[in-house]
Amino acid sequence: MVRVRFAPSPTGPLHMGGVRTALYNYLFAKKHNGTFVLRIEDTDQARYVPGAEEYIQKSLEWCGITPDEGPHAGGEYGPYRQSERKEIYREYADMLVEKGYAYYAFDTSEELEEMRDRAKKSGFPNWQYNSITRERMKNTLTLPEEEVQRRLKNNDPYVIRIKLPRDEEVKFEDIVRGWVSVNTKNMDDKVLFKSDGMPTYHLANIVDDYRMKITHVIRGEEWLPSAPLHVLLYRYLGLEDAQPAFAHLPLLLKPDGNGKLSKRDGDRLGFPVFPLEWHSQEGDVFSGYKENGYFPQAFVNMLAFLGWNPGTEQEIFSLDELVEAFDLKKVNKAGARFDFDKTKWFNQQYLRKLNDTKLATEIGHSLREKGIDLSDEKQLALVPMLKERAVFISDMLRDAEQFLNTPEDYDEKSVEKRFKGDARDHLKDFKSVLQSAVANTPSDYDEIIKTFLTERNLGFGKIGPGLRLALTGTMAGPALPEIIYMIGVEAAVTRIDKFINKFTD
Ligand code: GLU
Repeated sequence: MVRVRFAPSPTGPLHMGGVRTALYNYLFAKKHNGTFVLRIEDTDQARYVPGAEEYIQKSLEWCGITPDEGPHAGGEYGPYRQSERKEIYREYADMLVEKGYAYYAFDTSEELEEMRDRAKKSGFPNWQYNSITRERMKNTLTLPEEEVQRRLKNNDPYVIRIKLPRDEEVKFEDIVRGWVSVNTKNMDDKVLFKSDGMPTYHLANIVDDYRMKITHVIRGEEWLPSAPLHVLLYRYLGLEDAQPAFAHLPLLLKPDGNGKLSKRDGDRLGFPVFPLEWHSQEGDVFSGYKENGYFPQAFVNMLAFLGWNPGTEQEIFSLDELVEAFDLKKVNKAGARFDFDKTKWFNQQYLRKLNDTKLATEIGHSLREKGIDLSDEKQLALVPMLKERAVFISDMLRDAEQFLNTPEDYDEKSVEKRFKGDARDHLKDFKSVLQSAVANTPSDYDEIIKTFLTERNLGFGKIGPGLRLALTGTMAGPALPEIIYMIGVEAAVTRIDKFINKFTD
């Protein structure tokens, strides 16, 4: 039975890389009829940020990646917040100490700082507490037994550290990366249990994965260096058989491929990096995909392709289709470059797929709030006029307002260039023709324009630009017959008059 977990720390808003990790976990779980667990890893109280857990829940909800078990969903393996599981971890730390795989270390932070400084001065900037240096530190491996007892009686603070062998290869097979091998001489004696009575990430993480019966650990590549330590912890606790399979997902890279996409990049590079808007305690606001008008389905579809592809041409996938197609073995090793244009493209595809009638009602409603009241029929006719060119619903609204409202300003440069000579007279003539015409549909107006031009043997350039500028103020927008149909002959005539008066000297 597949059981996977998404295990974020509530230290801030969930970055889109975090959402991708959650998504891959979800897809893998659903694909194998397994269980997707949400576990909140809040053992580091100093980094706890209020509101972050709620933000995580809401983001997953918006994306439709619903946990089967978690702080809200409940489940048999709870509680699902590590801060509510405190009592569980100590016994595992003690077990390691008893077996000789961990030890108490009494060194104060000042003493550690001093060691680091001293090492730096002698040309070793990366001092570590390891199998060599520990021999000169204050721990149960170096201090006489009476001294240890005295310190414990005295309630001197201590941490529990793992005792790594000096020179041993730790190997494991990662589903994405293949065989990974690290020598313990390149690792340090990490703290497993802190003096404040809380476990560190490493201990809590593997204890919970074990107790929650996690079968596959799918997480970001930044955790790959921790994996050998986790493998050793399973071994030292005698839990090798329960060791989950590992899959470390490729990093998300900045659009230029130079380095990791960081939380700070987003607004700096002109796109959101968070699913939802985030208001920091310092009063900063970070933009979110949701508030920027993205559809969650498009966001999720885009994320799925950051590091994975189905090996076919198909790019548009619903969540269910993703579940069907997803394969951890097809996840790339190389970092996935984030492409903002592609993200917009996905949104555009989803906008095009939306049902026109629903979209018409939504746009009609928003227009009415702005004082523009369209009939149902016109509302519906509006949608195809704007849909193709839009990425967001808000684009459609903006484009609609652009021509539904009488222009206040005109693109003067275009007026100067395109509305000169006999163009003015032709536009006047056209106005009279329009006034007396009987027409009901865009194609009727199309016919009127065409007949006007043939009868006078004129090219479209003679009235097209002037008419467009008169009606909308700009050179952009939908086809002219459609605009006239939408605003009606009366408004069109008023706009033409206003325009001609303004630009007649
Ligand atoms: N709490 C870790 C994080 O914030 C979890 C890493 C893991 O999945 O093991 O990403």
